Amino acid sequence: MGKQRNTHDKSRQNLVMVTGVIFVVLLIGLGIYNLLSGMIGGDEAGEINLDGQPMLGDPDAPVTIVEFADFKCPACKSFYDHIMSELKSDYIDTGKAKLYFMNFPVVSRDSYTAAMAGEAIYRQDQEAFWAFYETVYKNQPDEGLEWATPEFLVELAKQSGAELDLETLQKDLAYNRYQSDVLKDKEAGQKAGINATPSLLINGQNVQNPFDYEEIKRLIEQELGGGSDEK
Ligand code: CA
Repeated sequence: MGKQRNTHDKSRQNLVMVTGVIFVVLLIGLGIYNLLSGMIGGDEAGEINLDGQPMLGDPDAPVTIVEFADFKCPACKSFYDHIMSELKSDYIDTGKAKLYFMNFPVVSRDSYTAAMAGEAIYRQDQEAFWAFYETVYKNQPDEGLEWATPEFLVELAKQSGAELDLETLQKDLAYNRYQSDVLKDKEAGQKAGINATPSLLINGQNVQNPFDYEEIKRLIEQELGGGSDEK
C-alpha cells in the first residue's frame, strides 16, 4: 500500500516537473517569437492585419493586393472606372491575386460616413460590400458636395441590388457603429506609409502610380515569379 502511494507520489512529481519544463519551454518560445516579430514587424508595409477586411478573389491566390480608398474620392472612382475591370479579369478572376479593400477617408467628414456604410454592409453580407462599392463609384456625386449622408448611402445600398437589412444599416450609421473599424483601417494605412487615395499595396509594396496598369502588372508578375525580367 505504502509503496504504491510512494510510486503514485513519484509519478505525480514527475508530472509536475514535466509540466513545468513544458511551461518554461513555451515561455521561452513565446519570448523569442515576440522578439522576432518585434524585429520583423516594425512599420514596414505588408504587416497589415487583413482579418475582417472585404476581399475579392480566391483566398489562396498567391498575390495580395490591398486597396486603400475613400468612396468620396474622384481618383478612386477613376481607378474603378479605368483599372479595376482589367485587374479583375487578368489577375483576380484567374486566381493569381486577391484584393482587399481598406478605408482611407481623406476627402471630407462625410467620407467617414461612407466608409462606415461599407463596414456595416460588409458585416451583413460580405459579397454585398462589392455590390455597394460598384454602386458608389458608378453614382459618385461631386466631391465638393456633402453627399455621403446616411440617407443617400442607404439609398445606394438599396440600388446595389444586394439583399440587405436597410433598417439595420440606417441604425448602424446613426450610431456610428463601425467608426472604430474605419479609424483602424486608416491607422493601419498610415503605418504602412499610405498618404493618398487610391493607394495599392502589392504584397506589401506600394505602387507608385495606381493608374499605371503596366506598373501594377509588372509588380504582380514579379511576385508571381519568373515574369520580373520580361519587361
Ligand atoms: Ca475595414
